[in-house]
Amino acid sequence: MLVSDDIHALSRAVGGPVVLPGSPEFAEETFAFNVATVHRPDVVLGAADAQDVAAAVKWAAEHRIPVSVQSTGHGADSAIDGGLLINTRRLQDLQIDPVERTARVGAGVKWRTLLEASVPHGLVGLHGSSTDVGVVGYTVGGGLPVLGRAHGFAADHVRSMDIVTADGALRRNDADAEAELFSLMRGGKGNFGIVTALEFSLFPVSEFYGGGIIYPGADAATILAAFRQWLPTLPDDASPSVSLLRLPDMDFVPEPLRNQFVVHLRFAFLGNREDGDALLAPMRAVSTPLMDTAGPMSYLDVDQIHMDPADPLPFTEGGALLKDFGDETVADLLELTGDGSDCPLLLVEIRPLGGALSRPALSRPGVMPDAVPDAVSGRDAAFLLFLVGFKVPPIAEAVAASIRGILAAMAPHSTGYTLVNFHGEPGDEADRARAWSPAVYERMRSAKATYDPGNLLRFGHAITGAPAAG
Ligand SMILES: Cc1cc2nc3c(=O)[nH]c(=O)nc-3n(C[C@H](O)[C@H](O)[C@H](O)COP(=O)(O)OP(=O)(O)OC[C@H]3O[C@@H](n4cnc5c(N)ncnc54)[C@H](O)[C@@H]3O)c2cc1C
Repeated sequence: MLVSDDIHALSRAVGGPVVLPGSPEFAEETFAFNVATVHRPDVVLGAADAQDVAAAVKWAAEHRIPVSVQSTGHGADSAIDGGLLINTRRLQDLQIDPVERTARVGAGVKWRTLLEASVPHGLVGLHGSSTDVGVVGYTVGGGLPVLGRAHGFAADHVRSMDIVTADGALRRNDADAEAELFSLMRGGKGNFGIVTALEFSLFPVSEFYGGGIIYPGADAATILAAFRQWLPTLPDDASPSVSLLRLPDMDFVPEPLRNQFVVHLRFAFLGNREDGDALLAPMRAVSTPLMDTAGPMSYLDVDQIHMDPADPLPFTEGGALLKDFGDETVADLLELTGDGSDCPLLLVEIRPLGGALSRPALSRPGVMPDAVPDAVSGRDAAFLLFLVGFKVPPIAEAVAASIRGILAAMAPHSTGYTLVNFHGEPGDEADRARAWSPAVYERMRSAKATYDPGNLLRFGHAITGAPAAG
């Protein structure tokens, strides 16, 4: 148990605020974008810089106190109970090198802030569907980007990171220095330390075409069948996805779509209007859209492609990688979640992988010549199935049961794995292991035993270290 001398020792070692339960700042420092999750650590540090993170982890190691980390709480799919929570939102350093096409960000930077700085140079980072998400939390989870089929996972393009390991040491980590740690931190989530800064590649974007088409949910079978036929005709510069949405009567939903069951096709394409229109033409003809926003767009409007909620909400989620999206897979998914089903979920999403997402980072010459393979698993899958529902009474239990039920019923179509950023609430060890291939998981267990032998970083998608040899 922590006594006041312990807390004073922590306060003396750091520059940022040390906050205890019951103090007025506690709610703000522990607040998560996923408001269904209420963190209850024993103490929070609002880290002011990387040295604060190192000092706090060292303090926690000395006191054998578990450590967790949060910047935005977008990934707060389980609550933190006890221990030290390090809030990194104040780590806002941001540097763009337009010549080298790289960015270096502190662990509190969100994708939107990065884009606002990089887009004027004609460069973008590999963010996901919402730019409100933190760069670091997303990237250590692999990072499945909007432009994924063109460039691969965000983790594939990390150049270096500053990381505080469980012994409190602040290390500069890249392909030359501690290559195995560097490799496993890119996709292995926060299992081996707390990242304080990340350096990664940016990509040129000259013309950009994107947006969404919303169709009546009653046409879901026709649209999904057409989507399946259409996908192989697309170049890798085009990244589409499709979702079934049961839209609530809430502010983030455009008024005409409230309380409706719809199909939402999302489309991001590195090209001009003429080519974008030509690629989308077959999907525009398939049903009568209720809304069509696809066209040339300023890259800073990229959030309009997925239209993810911008304000905090209570939600729960789950995901599985699919082997295919063939006739049987589509029919089973529609029976479970389509028109006429009793599916209570807000979103049932299908994101195709393929293109650069299916190729290991090393096999893309010229992209990152010194790359060591990262921990992103699941490149052999064809699609990601992702499920999201509201975690609020009175439907919370029905939503959780529905996610479990759909994942179980779709298991014959799944590779058996998922992506850690889309895993949802982490369950037992076997469930958490679903986020990595067996080979990567074994490497992670061995590295966990090396870098976190006391299992200090044990919250969320944490794995257990391999027992010491002999
Ligand atoms: C609306 C929405 C859209 C999303 N879209 C996508 C998408 O398109 N593609 C995709 O891949 N993911 C997506 N995600 C998932 C998202 O990438 C993860 O939830 C990610 O963990 C969020 O990171 P964060 O730092 O914002 O969240 P936080 O909740 O602050 O952090 C989540 C976890 O990330 C790890 N982490 C955070 N900071 C650090 C650090 N400094 N060092 C080490 N580990 C750290 C920890 O394990 C932490 O528990 C989306 C999530 C939401 C809510």
